[in-house]
Amino acid sequence: MKPIPYGRQFIFSDDIRAVVDVLRSDFLTQGPTINEFEKKFADYVGSKYAVAVSSGTAALHLSALVLGVKKNTKVITTPITFVASANCVKYCGGEVCFADIDPVTYTIDIDQVSRLLESSPKGTFSGIIPVDFAGYPVNMEEIRTLADKHNLWILEDACHAPGGCFLDGKGEKQFCGNGKYADLAIFSFHPVKHFATGEGGMITTSDEGLYNKLRLLRTHGITKDPSMLSHNPGGWYYEMQELGFNYRLSNIHSALGISQLKRADEGINRRKKIAETYNKAFKNTTIITPMLQNGFEHAYHLYVIQVENRKALYDYLKENQIFTQVHYIPVHYQPYYIQFGYKKGDFPVAEKYYEYCLSLPMYPALKDEEQDFVIEKVIEFYR
Ligand SMILES: *Cc1c(COP(=O)(O)O)cnc(C)c1O
Repeated sequence: MKPIPYGRQFIFSDDIRAVVDVLRSDFLTQGPTINEFEKKFADYVGSKYAVAVSSGTAALHLSALVLGVKKNTKVITTPITFVASANCVKYCGGEVCFADIDPVTYTIDIDQVSRLLESSPKGTFSGIIPVDFAGYPVNMEEIRTLADKHNLWILEDACHAPGGCFLDGKGEKQFCGNGKYADLAIFSFHPVKHFATGEGGMITTSDEGLYNKLRLLRTHGITKDPSMLSHNPGGWYYEMQELGFNYRLSNIHSALGISQLKRADEGINRRKKIAETYNKAFKNTTIITPMLQNGFEHAYHLYVIQVENRKALYDYLKENQIFTQVHYIPVHYQPYYIQFGYKKGDFPVAEKYYEYCLSLPMYPALKDEEQDFVIEKVIEFYR
């Protein structure tokens, strides 16, 4: 059997054709394809606007900038995430504060956030970056209520959760990153995520002002829009109005993204099916499978189990060509973050979670016989 990774892309001949078509066209970057990708992605998640950028990390950086993060700005996030969710605050000179996770959903614990806010002087914090970890949707309605009470912005890291949703207080489906409650949401198109463009990212929002700022900062802070220029001496003229970046996504990447998006429903249904099969297989074992509350639809970017003897299981599976992963090493354990005063013991729920967690292979291209083999080896290990 071929090696089985924990996640991987799914490229069809349609995808290849879409990319080749762009290569034969007039625009390799900054053409119509990027606008089409943004429009289709916004439709998919249900947001008003979308801004395509060169990576999920670029999406986080630009978001932190337009939300006003600067020196001494304090922002709350979860320690169980990819480091980039926290790093965007540091890029802008701000300060990262963690709140512990919920032991059942593994996402940021809203009660912990509330306690942190209540126990700090008014105005201490400026924003919060909740992460739809593994594809489990954070209840953004609750976060919004808390954020409004304390005058915070919300930047939703939805990299794991395109297609995930929860039912709000009115019983309406709210999709991750739809811009209803969070000010901004970000996605990544790294090959292990739901849609692969190679490298790539997206920011979604329903705020027109933030949308315009993001577009400006994506291209060096330069505009040619006549309505935005201070004066207009001729057709060549443009103005650099802010210190921006080149965080553009190329048309080549966007074409791949549009093509991948066509299989969104198929992809998420396959992920749900894989999760169901794992859930059933591990039902009468000591393995703890992902929790699902009523009214929440998991996007299953990851399938995380909690197990005794995690390291030995990891090694055993690896010997059998099954490459699992640990998501994540708590961010406050990273040497870079330790210098800001964090230490072991600060976030006990996250730390305990880290000792037991393991992500099993989860991706639409995972074959039934491959999944059966993974299940067989996991069960065999605990026999
Ligand atoms: C992948 C990921 C990112 C970063 O995305 P890139 O496209 O790799 O820069 C940020 N946050 C989370 C939760 C991610 O999984």
